Amino acid sequence: MNNLSIFEINPNASLIHPFSSTLLTWYRTHARDLPWRHTKDPYVIWLSEVVLQQTRVAQGLPYFHTLLAAFPRVQDLAEAEEDTLFRLWQGLGYYSRARNLHKTAKHVVASGGEFPQSYSGLITLPGIGPYTAAAIASFAFNEASPVVDGNVFRILARHFGIETDILHSSARKIFTELAQELIPNNQPATFNQAIMEFGSLQCSPVPQCPSCPLVSSCVAHATGRTLLLPLKSKKKPVRERFLAYFIFEQRGKILVRQRTGKDIWAGLWEFYLVELADFEQSLALLALDPVIQAWFSELDSFALKAPAPHLLSHQKLISKAWHIQVPDHFNMPQMDEYQWIEPEDFKNVGKPVLLLNLITDNLSLQELF
Ligand code: SF4
Repeated sequence: MNNLSIFEINPNASLIHPFSSTLLTWYRTHARDLPWRHTKDPYVIWLSEVVLQQTRVAQGLPYFHTLLAAFPRVQDLAEAEEDTLFRLWQGLGYYSRARNLHKTAKHVVASGGEFPQSYSGLITLPGIGPYTAAAIASFAFNEASPVVDGNVFRILARHFGIETDILHSSARKIFTELAQELIPNNQPATFNQAIMEFGSLQCSPVPQCPSCPLVSSCVAHATGRTLLLPLKSKKKPVRERFLAYFIFEQRGKILVRQRTGKDIWAGLWEFYLVELADFEQSLALLALDPVIQAWFSELDSFALKAPAPHLLSHQKLISKAWHIQVPDHFNMPQMDEYQWIEPEDFKNVGKPVLLLNLITDNLSLQELF
């Protein structure tokens, strides 16, 4: 990475909106020194942006370093095995990001290995949306493309008293147009960094109004609506799912599959799974599963310590697990998606955090893996 200053030029150097100049002045004393702020390399910027989506900086930082060390160039990422990427991504969640990252890297390499140098070019790449395209265009190529993410919605809604529901389809256009008016043409990268930093540190979900440099012009503060803005319609209800995992072990191997499709954890590996409507009433239904049938009467003796319920953005995963030693002579039914592998090999593939917790919490599994 180049060792650039994280600031572009003197924030007072040109005529800009008072909101923007206040923000830039604030940023000069409050900016955190983060590694991706020292580079103009679009690949490194893109990698950091994808890692940080829905993720706190403190959590994402070690993943950023690990991924960049493993894949220093977009070509390295494009050529990586998906399992290697998933293993390094393990614990960061939202695995669709890793899949999209891989897909985009392959596309960039297939198109000559260079990222497009404008917002309009970047937005055509698969897996790159308006926010990421604006971030790369401004940070790498100094284009005045405003980033609009949750932080920006929050600051602009509060400061300018905007009552638009940010989940409404019109919201992005309204907020982007406002941000476009505010972004100074001569320092777009610093402005974009500043507004995001301000949203993380100052105008956070619980805002720090008493120390805010924008307090005198803030509509939400003046009207007592700081905690009411931005307007956001009700979230989707959390869906509960009940996962029964069976760790079948036979002749030194375990039965696993790689998840596919559009559901959670696509691309990650897991043990034999039966998903139930609940655990109270439908556990008896397990007796109907051809693989479980033979062991059903003895399930109590195979039970493992269950992991704590696992929360995803709109799902709560409640799980139970059983470890079943299958006698060597027993012929397990054939199952298309599942395969028998060495426990050692299971160590080296990407797994959901829920299963990592299951292994950590159960001594018999720690010894196996
Ligand atoms: S005064 Fe409070 S609500 Fe308004 S911009 Fe500052 S921190 Fe945000």
